[in-house]
Amino acid sequence: MADKNIPYKIYLEEDEMPLAWYNLRADMKKKPAPLLNPETHKPMTAEELEPVFCRDLIQQELDDTTPYFEIPQEIRNFYRMYRPSPLVRAYCLEEKLQTPAKIYYKFEGSNTSGSHKLNSAIAQAYYAKKQGLRGVTTETGAGQWGTALSMACAYLGLDCKVYMVKCSYEQKPFRREVMRTYGASVTPSPSMDTEVGRRILAEHPGTGGSLGCAISEAVEKAENTEGYRYVLGSVLNQVMLHQTVIGLETKTAMDKYGIKPDLIIGCAGGGSNLGGLIAPFMGEKLRGEADYRFIAVEPASCPSLSRGIYAYDYCDTGKVCPLAKMYTLGSGFMPAANHAGGLRYHGMNPILSQLRYDGLLEAVSVPQTSVFEAAEIFAKVEGILPAPESSHAIKIAIDEAMRCKETGEEKTILFGLTGTGYFDMLAYEKFHNGQMTDYIPSDEEIQANFSKLPAVE
Ligand SMILES: *Cc1c(COP(=O)(O)O)cnc(C)c1O
Repeated sequence: MADKNIPYKIYLEEDEMPLAWYNLRADMKKKPAPLLNPETHKPMTAEELEPVFCRDLIQQELDDTTPYFEIPQEIRNFYRMYRPSPLVRAYCLEEKLQTPAKIYYKFEGSNTSGSHKLNSAIAQAYYAKKQGLRGVTTETGAGQWGTALSMACAYLGLDCKVYMVKCSYEQKPFRREVMRTYGASVTPSPSMDTEVGRRILAEHPGTGGSLGCAISEAVEKAENTEGYRYVLGSVLNQVMLHQTVIGLETKTAMDKYGIKPDLIIGCAGGGSNLGGLIAPFMGEKLRGEADYRFIAVEPASCPSLSRGIYAYDYCDTGKVCPLAKMYTLGSGFMPAANHAGGLRYHGMNPILSQLRYDGLLEAVSVPQTSVFEAAEIFAKVEGILPAPESSHAIKIAIDEAMRCKETGEEKTILFGLTGTGYFDMLAYEKFHNGQMTDYIPSDEEIQANFSKLPAVE
């Protein structure tokens, strides 16, 4: 049944790997709204961002017009250790589903961090090093981003301070130890290290912490430590820019074999992998050269793009970061326990938010037991144990393939397989024991936080 000329796995030659990241904003007629200063509500300037972020990364963050940013040679050398990543034709999944659809996935889990986050971690660490900094601070929830950043910093000889949400620090010792293996210092958050940490501990002794609190601690530490800046693993436009390496490789590989996807699917937490995967295809759509359907998949418990409001909001609970216009559930939204830690953010990348607002990107949300069912089907036939986050995309890819079975359409489906799930076995255990719950917030619960959005006209 295999198409004769198309291999199971398409690996590009090294000289086919991208030399530049693609800035989708350059092709958008309606640009995403600018970041605003949280106090004055005026657009953030590069100077205002300098105390917190690295200089070159600020330029990338604010640039709406330059179509390509060259990938520095040192970053390309690093990419070569684990890229190009394979583009896989899921022949066995197609066979299992008995679908006429053709299914492809781009697999980003074949590095030690186990996800796509390394693509941006190395870029951010590189620009910090280039600026002559000593180190970077960041937060991590489940630990994927902290792991990726530790690896990148170890490679470049930078110091790496990670604030890890305290309950994850205690419940997920393995990722914590991977970070320490790469030389990072890992502090459970809230900590006595920072003013905001001490304040939260005084108010809520014994708290397990939150991502929003860890962000505030990491930002404060960077601002108060000579030679340090803060870096973030998702949501920002610069992160999506770095992740376009995923989509550019995919496009080159597909063009090489004359494959054109009809439908492109990705999971969406802060939006970086989805944005990176779809960017070159969306660019064609915006320029009127080709047409594709794009679908963002979110957890039903944290559906910012599918059920949120498009408005300016705080990016962190401490309200120290710039305001971003995005689909949001409100910075005070507390998602119910969900095992896809990487998808628990209240907002969404501003570029994807604008595309969604303009009707160019669809968004759906799915309950987590259906996600783990899809993960198991996939693991059994494709031989990869997927991350819970990635399995959101698998779930919708399978649904779409089954729809093709009903209609007899031979669509080509492409999805992003962002990572592996070996550190998520407690979640798989809950699923196997029938202890997993599907919490779907009501419209009242979703709207409860909308009234607390900052008043920006
Ligand atoms: C962090 C993470 C995600 C979600 O982040 P995005 O910025 O939305 O891409 C998805 N999958 C995995 C495996 C992750 O670690």
